[in-house]
Amino acid sequence: MAELIDHPCVQHKLAIIRDAETGHKRFRELATEITKFICYEALKNVKTREVVVRTPVADATCHKIDTDLVVVPILRAGVGMLEGILELVPTARVGFVGLYRDEKTKQPVTYYERFPRQIEGGTCIVIDPMLATGGSTVAAIDLLKENGAGNIVVVCIVTCPEGIQLVEKHHPDVPIYAAAIDDYLNENKYIVPGLGDAGDRLFGTSH
Ligand code: URA
Repeated sequence: MAELIDHPCVQHKLAIIRDAETGHKRFRELATEITKFICYEALKNVKTREVVVRTPVADATCHKIDTDLVVVPILRAGVGMLEGILELVPTARVGFVGLYRDEKTKQPVTYYERFPRQIEGGTCIVIDPMLATGGSTVAAIDLLKENGAGNIVVVCIVTCPEGIQLVEKHHPDVPIYAAAIDDYLNENKYIVPGLGDAGDRLFGTSH
């Protein structure tokens, strides 16, 4: 299941982040702002428990989040979405996955993984701004499940039909939340129209 966050506040920011004239400082700020909105939606079904809080006037029945939240950025570009999520849920724990693509097999290979034990029983939010081929997202979800995670959502900024289909094929239980579902992948595996190389634009490494 892929859910498009088409709220005007998100779409306005998306128009600016896509613009090739937007520099890395503003790009980073927008990635944070957009991520916060998408995550807000992605967490709408998270488990809560009823609590009674005494206000200055009377008791109020309230609801607090009742699951460990673990944010899992896929290195490197996923790090650009971390701040936005942590502003929304500051007590979340953070795990990391580093993957590269083997040039011969074209398959993702893990070079780094470090997860808090709370992935078991908690809610994992995998973040990567561009869900393109879907290969690294599927590999990251595979790793999380191998380590005991049962409840996983994916949050990205831009995706495309190819990426959604691959994740749905391998992990139909994992919902995807995105600010845009673009047209297609080009021969270099870039999303069209997309926003270019998100890692380079976030970290100022483009030429
Ligand atoms: N990764 C990016 O940074 N951009 C794309 O368009 C696809 C993958």
